Amino acid sequence: MEFKPFEKKIWLSSPTMHGDEIRYIHEAYETNWMSTVGQNINEVERKTCEYIGCKYSVALSAGTAALHLAMKLAGIKSGDYVFCSDMTFSATVNPVTYEGGVPIFIDSEYETWNMDPKTLEKAFELYPDVKVVVVANLYGTPSKLDEIRAICDKHNAVLIEDAAESLGAVYKGRQTGTFGDYNVISFNGNKIITGSAGGMLLTDSLEAANKARKWSTQSRENAPWYQHEEIGYNYRMSNVIAGVVRGQYGYLDEHIAQKKAIYYRYKEGFKDLPVSMNPFIEEEMEPNFWLSCLIIDKEAMCRQVRGEDDVLYVSEAGKSCPTEILEALVKYNAEGRPIWKPMHMQPIFRMNPFITKDGNGRGLSNAYIHGNETVIVDEDIFERGLCLPSDNKMTAEEQDIIIEIIRECFQ
Ligand SMILES: *Cc1c(COP(=O)(O)O)cnc(C)c1O
Repeated sequence: MEFKPFEKKIWLSSPTMHGDEIRYIHEAYETNWMSTVGQNINEVERKTCEYIGCKYSVALSAGTAALHLAMKLAGIKSGDYVFCSDMTFSATVNPVTYEGGVPIFIDSEYETWNMDPKTLEKAFELYPDVKVVVVANLYGTPSKLDEIRAICDKHNAVLIEDAAESLGAVYKGRQTGTFGDYNVISFNGNKIITGSAGGMLLTDSLEAANKARKWSTQSRENAPWYQHEEIGYNYRMSNVIAGVVRGQYGYLDEHIAQKKAIYYRYKEGFKDLPVSMNPFIEEEMEPNFWLSCLIIDKEAMCRQVRGEDDVLYVSEAGKSCPTEILEALVKYNAEGRPIWKPMHMQPIFRMNPFITKDGNGRGLSNAYIHGNETVIVDEDIFERGLCLPSDNKMTAEEQDIIIEIIRECFQ
């Protein structure tokens, strides 16, 4: 079948505005709270606590800023090892290094594509003194959060939950962003709801919330003049940005429902292809379905070789690979993306320890990829997986065409 390229690009995940946002921006303007103080900020903090069920929230300029303050609250000091999710966006782990910490990456499991609790336990055997764990919920799917929480408790470690991609996802009846001592959400432009930018720190500790709020506004002491006893940051959310977030909150559930419909339409459309969707544990979790992804069966992978900055593949009948599918999508003006390249494979982190279920992942060879046994889960998912166009403004008809484009890659 031949299709014409989409006239309007189909995005991976783009902002979806509804009209309420401009009303609150306007309100900030009219009342002249064009600042990092104002009613929109108060309301966004209140709504977040109400929706998620946390005690305190601090509105900040970005999820990355929230993660940085979480690292400070966790007490990371120069040279400290910190256990981190390996398959995540770099914003999860960069803030560890802002405080001088050294990320140790933990391989994932196949049931949720998130940090494997068994591997985390193994990591504590190898590094018993580690005091902080940073776990991310990839693509809106919760990690095995109760197991990870229990391991942290057993080892007296602080847990930081990066729920930037999973706002609104539920694990065992509880919202993500509540399992860590310090939790982070993001309102970046591509997230499930957005402020164009912005993020939040969530915690049940009043003391932590107060510290974060103070640090985020240059650590001003309570004095008639600018008085400082600590280093501060300019990390507070703008009241204009907060207006956008405030307007979006009423549509979070709608966005989740749309993303869920997209996920299941793909799943149905691919049911006789040698692929599966990004997995979750149905009995335990309800993802927010932020991004739909697929992973190609090992036997149906054509040859694909990735260097640091480029890639080659050999097209084969009945088989395909992420690169072939991504190129087909580009041809039709649709945006897909490779799976987030694991942190342990990033040149900047090449010296950092990496733990797999078999021990030190740095000592293992890459020969497993086309063999029978997969030793490094994250390398395998990166090799065989990709993110699909998941924009909630994509119509069912447009998605049907995308499904057909992908089916043709396996012809
Ligand atoms: C988007 C994202 C962040 C960072 O949020 P910003 O608001 O863009 O700073 C952190 N972690 C993960 C996993 C993300 O996807």
